Amino acid sequence: MKYCIITFGCQANKSDSEKIASFLEKNGLQKTSEKEADFVVINSCSVRQSAVDRMEAKIREIKKRKKPPVTALTGCVLQKDKKKLKPFFDYMLPEKELFPQKIPFLKKGFLKEAPKREKPTAYITIMSGCDNFCSYCVVPYTKGRESSRPAKEVVEEAKKTIKEGYRDIWLLGQNVNSYKGGVKFSNLLREINKIRGDFWVRFTSSHPKDFSSDIISVIKNCKKITNYLHLPVQSGDDEILKKMNRSYTSEQYKKAVNEAKKEIPGLSVSTDIIVGFPGETEKQFHNTVKLVKEIGFDMIYIGRYSPRMQTAAYNMKETVSEEEKRRREKILEELLKESNLEKNKKLVGRKIRVLTTQMTKKNLLSGKTEGYKSVLFKGPKSLIGEFVKIKITGYSSWGLKGKISRK
Ligand code: SAM
Ligand code: SF4
Repeated sequence: MKYCIITFGCQANKSDSEKIASFLEKNGLQKTSEKEADFVVINSCSVRQSAVDRMEAKIREIKKRKKPPVTALTGCVLQKDKKKLKPFFDYMLPEKELFPQKIPFLKKGFLKEAPKREKPTAYITIMSGCDNFCSYCVVPYTKGRESSRPAKEVVEEAKKTIKEGYRDIWLLGQNVNSYKGGVKFSNLLREINKIRGDFWVRFTSSHPKDFSSDIISVIKNCKKITNYLHLPVQSGDDEILKKMNRSYTSEQYKKAVNEAKKEIPGLSVSTDIIVGFPGETEKQFHNTVKLVKEIGFDMIYIGRYSPRMQTAAYNMKETVSEEEKRRREKILEELLKESNLEKNKKLVGRKIRVLTTQMTKKNLLSGKTEGYKSVLFKGPKSLIGEFVKIKITGYSSWGLKGKISRK
């Protein structure tokens, strides 16, 4: 039997899909393309309606086939969405268990499986769930309460993956700064930094309310912890932040980022922003624009507000049209493009360490800098998973071009 897993969602979903793949292969199934699969698993989140819509379109298309495969739905999908999608799936799997008790051709035990990863990236989940209840977010409802994996287990997993040659280690959790696995998060990072080998560590997401100068000191002093910080701000307006239940002000956010940038030269900062939250006025959106200009983010993941059942914001009146949300999104995208163009231009001529991640369709290698910028360059496939020195020769608003430098 052949399987295919289709993932919609964040790195946590990707990481779960890697575990599912491993579980299915232990059961004798072989990976194949979507078209050839006898068993299709969709692993999706329902953070935004768009993810649910894309998933529905996909499963409708799959089920229309002459000989449709067996299908299963898993992931953090809201009960309401599950109900709607039920007719399209042979198996609906509980979100916390992710994988089955009741599929005849499979045995139990997926959660214990080691993920089937793709080099050089190893996602390591250090926490699941969330206790923050931001007013727009379904995660506390779909994933349940926050729980941390013991530090010892996390460090062991990191050691194992590094020994196996993974060099791009991601520690995942909804709010890694509130990690409670026996040591505080900064010390978990220090422990992982001590592991022998050549690798980079990234972590996501940090919640600004729990972000501390201790983390700044770890990024500054631990060589393997990258100069890259993902710190979702969501809005630059204090009233909106309050309605979102984020527990910090825009001033506090700016202070934290400015301190981090002062201490860590060359720090890359990325963020998440929601446009069109219920009641967001033009003036309040402008406060977000102001913050974006002041900080100069390296990347912004922009989400148009999407009402989710069960959340507190679901009962707030929507005041921003879809068209206006798109306009606001476009404004932020343009700002990001402009500031990245300026930043990337300054890198031309520099020699930068890059971790090669994949071969593109145009037969160019693609890699990431320590600050998580994309770089394209020519080279053999054998360099995938390796660090290389690249001389930057070109740039655009979304990335860099270069060539391998021998020195
Ligand atoms: N835990 C992380 C944090 O606190 O920032 C974020 C996790 S959430 C799964 C990923 C991003 O999705 C959020 O940062 C937010 O910007 C976006 N998001 C969540 N709910 C949303 C909604 N209802 N509409 C639009 N975007 C949403
Ligand atoms: Fe959602 Fe807020 Fe938890 Fe992030 S911190 S997962 S946005 S509730």
